[in-house]
Amino acid sequence: MQFISTRGQAPQTSFSDVLLAGLAPDGGLYLPQSWPQFSSDEIAAFKGQRYQDVAFTILSRFTAGSFRDGELREAIEAAYVDFDAPQIAPLVDIGNGHYLLELFHGPTLAFKDIALQVLGQLFSRALARRGGRATIVAATSGDTGSAAIAALGGLPNINVFVMHPKGRVSEVQRLQMTTSAHANVHNIALEGSFDDAQGIVKSLFADTAFASDISLTAVNSINFARIAAQCVYYFTATAALGKPATFVVPTGNFGDIFAGEAASRMGLDVARLVIATNANDIMARALNEGLYAAGASHATLSPSMDIQVASNFERALFEASNRDADWTVAAMNDFAASRRLALPPGVLQALRARYSAYASDDTETRAAIAAVHKETGRIIDPHTAVGVAAARRLGKTPSPVVVLSTAHPAKFPEAVTQAIGSPPPEPRRLAGMKNLPERLEILGNQPALIKQFISSRLAG
Ligand SMILES: *Cc1c(COP(=O)(O)O)cnc(C)c1O
Repeated sequence: MQFISTRGQAPQTSFSDVLLAGLAPDGGLYLPQSWPQFSSDEIAAFKGQRYQDVAFTILSRFTAGSFRDGELREAIEAAYVDFDAPQIAPLVDIGNGHYLLELFHGPTLAFKDIALQVLGQLFSRALARRGGRATIVAATSGDTGSAAIAALGGLPNINVFVMHPKGRVSEVQRLQMTTSAHANVHNIALEGSFDDAQGIVKSLFADTAFASDISLTAVNSINFARIAAQCVYYFTATAALGKPATFVVPTGNFGDIFAGEAASRMGLDVARLVIATNANDIMARALNEGLYAAGASHATLSPSMDIQVASNFERALFEASNRDADWTVAAMNDFAASRRLALPPGVLQALRARYSAYASDDTETRAAIAAVHKETGRIIDPHTAVGVAAARRLGKTPSPVVVLSTAHPAKFPEAVTQAIGSPPPEPRRLAGMKNLPERLEILGNQPALIKQFISSRLAG
């Protein structure tokens, strides 16, 4: 399988190059040259199969030519060893035709593990083959950082730099990152927002001399390998239900929900994809008003979604424009310059045929946590609650409604306490973390400071 850039100026390349590069050299995002196709019979046959086997069937179409089947199988098996649920992504009925797709049973208790564990396994194999070292710089709104550390901490020839917005992640999220004892893990608390951190990562890539000198790579959802691994649960959930579903996806960087578009382009019958945002509602405004315009970022109860610029939206725009790379480049340049982009009618129509969008504020988030707790006894996390709040606004739908449950509630005890009066029980994975020493560097919001820090750590 070959991959192309949304900006049309990068050479076609293989899955392992995409994996090791992250961002395309023209600043665009990689997508498969054509989407692999699955028939409805193949999809129906996923019902009852092990998650790992479905993942193999789907991922092997992307990795063909880069990984042998045996290597891919091994990588997938290893990736999911440390999950608490044997189904990996269990589907839970919460009544009235609504379901939670629980994606938080991995080592860091958020859905990021599902893709990053696979990515870490493939990454070390690809790197061993290519030789040399790799420097991973990840911007995190809270969950990618710990998941990247869990997947890549301690691996040879890899350094991991994780940048989180200082004071804007939950205490549990911070501790999960900063208490890592691995010498190849470097935490930066950035004096800025997640968008600032993501902007710095992009500017490091733009400095091509620096990027190639340190073999810079990205494991944010701009890395297509993550999208590929996240398609899988859309297939398993649909196969389990035996009919097309409406998926409601708590959305920040648009990676998880774009994986739903990817699944549908691969032949999965998806009733609708519903974007659920918090008060950082750029995606809801883009869909509903036709203007993609970044505002100031707001701190909310669902910090992993406190994002204004949704990187993966570029992939959806490229597809919605019928893969018009020239238009995509012009649109992205306009947006970079003015922080706003009016969506042309054809593009908007294509997006609306697939997506709907709802934004919920913190009051609605707390209400959703309380309602689900009262009705089912389950405690959901504030990101899942943003999804549930959107699902409740859909009214009656002919299809089952599946809310992606993206994090374990124990990562956000303050939010849960505000909603139901007491914190969720602490899972064993978090026990004792508060007593461990923390390692982090507080740095100002300037690419030069980050570069300096990375260079000095790599030299030291
Ligand atoms: C990352 C994250 C999201 C948002 O996912 P995107 O792919 O960035 O849209 C939602 N919920 C949680 C808990 C997350 O960690």
